[in-house]
Amino acid sequence: MGKSAEWHAIRAEANTVVCPDCHMPPGTVCRNQWTGQPTTHLPAHASRIVFARKPMPQSDGDPIVDLDAQASEPG
Ligand SMILES: [Zn+2]
Repeated sequence: MGKSAEWHAIRAEANTVVCPDCHMPPGTVCRNQWTGQPTTHLPAHASRIVFARKPMPQSDGDPIVDLDAQASEPG
């Protein structure tokens, strides 16, 4: 069944970090620790969503990457 765009956005955001709950690495969907199956109801474990939204402690600069600067290569 279809999930909302927000659901997918939350999952994509959560998948950028390691899950503190099921310890799945970035880019990998959370798994139910009892069944071993990827979570389908939740976009990710709640703790992972919170973790993904926290600012990284070591980055106190501007986190925004200028994609235009990378797109235009000299030559
Ligand atoms: Zn998880």
